[in-house]
Amino acid sequence: MESVNLDDLPLRDDLRGRTPYGAPQAPLPIALNVNENTHPVPQEVADDIVDQIAISLREINRYPDREFSALRQAFADYLGHDLTADQIWAANGSSEVLQHILQAFGGPGRRAFGFAPTYSMYPLLTNGTGAEWVAGTRGADFTLTAEDAAVQVRDVQPAVTFLCTPNNPTGTPLGLDVVEAVYEATDGIVIVDEAYFEFAPREARSALTLLPGRPRLVVSRTMSKAFAFAGARVGYLAADPVLIDALRLVRLPYHLSALTQAAALAALRHAPAMLRMVDDIVAQRDRISATLEALGYRPYESWSNFVLFGGVADPRATWQALYDRGVLVRDVGLPGFLRVSAGTEDETTALLEALASVESPV
Ligand code: PMP
Repeated sequence: MESVNLDDLPLRDDLRGRTPYGAPQAPLPIALNVNENTHPVPQEVADDIVDQIAISLREINRYPDREFSALRQAFADYLGHDLTADQIWAANGSSEVLQHILQAFGGPGRRAFGFAPTYSMYPLLTNGTGAEWVAGTRGADFTLTAEDAAVQVRDVQPAVTFLCTPNNPTGTPLGLDVVEAVYEATDGIVIVDEAYFEFAPREARSALTLLPGRPRLVVSRTMSKAFAFAGARVGYLAADPVLIDALRLVRLPYHLSALTQAAALAALRHAPAMLRMVDDIVAQRDRISATLEALGYRPYESWSNFVLFGGVADPRATWQALYDRGVLVRDVGLPGFLRVSAGTEDETTALLEALASVESPV
């Protein structure tokens, strides 16, 4: 059979030449490259999840609850802030939650905007709906002031604005004054992506507190990070019930499988056990930052479960040297930088020993 090129297929013009999301998935002993929670789900929780999945299998011949009502209530209870089930939406990872927003509010002829460097999926999801991605800029140390952010957003007038806090890949927190100022500066949707919120200091205020009276504001979260549930693919958001109605226009019917709903519900019932490792991960993150500094690198302030560090003469070479020592970190494409997720204590020790053994920073 003759082999076919992508160029031979009637691909959409605006997708030609683009590259898919592709964090390397290599079978290394110490994988600290995609900000997963490397602690396994506690056994008693895993047992309960299996029981719930077994129950849902009895009715697996039927479509699941399209409105995933029990799960939405459970997310509302978990988030607090007097949220109700009709203010909650969920999907297969917060990636899909964000995609639903872009499908409903992005699309051809519209713009989505974020402050680079930020989560690499935002442009891909944006382009996937045919909208245009516009990248804004950050100030020193990747921080953002309310004034600067508002000016940039007013200039671009995006249909959808992404505010990632703490920001991936930099770990940078964002003041709620920035969220308020950006919301005032646009008539579009403002998404605050709090995927890593549970790793922030206890006293940190969530953008959930800003939801009342702001019908265009969305706060998204995920079970992939703090909940150690990345493989289950469960993300969710909180917003005005009317905005959530809009998302029903674009979701696939029955998009959350009965198995996913059962697993997520069981996991949420054990939220304290699922979140037990967060403090440990935060301690390992701070240990990574302190050691990087001692080694002569430049770690950036992080409120997440990972650390971005500068002062890497040749990121590609350091990435490879760590790889050869069995440690997978992330080259996020920023010249002079690498990013690493905080693992268990043992994994972190292995990472830091490997780093100490590779050539010294610039
Ligand atoms: N938002 C941010 C900022 C992320 O870093 C990630 C995953 N790396 C996601 C969203 C998506 O996570 P998931 O689809 O697993 O919920």
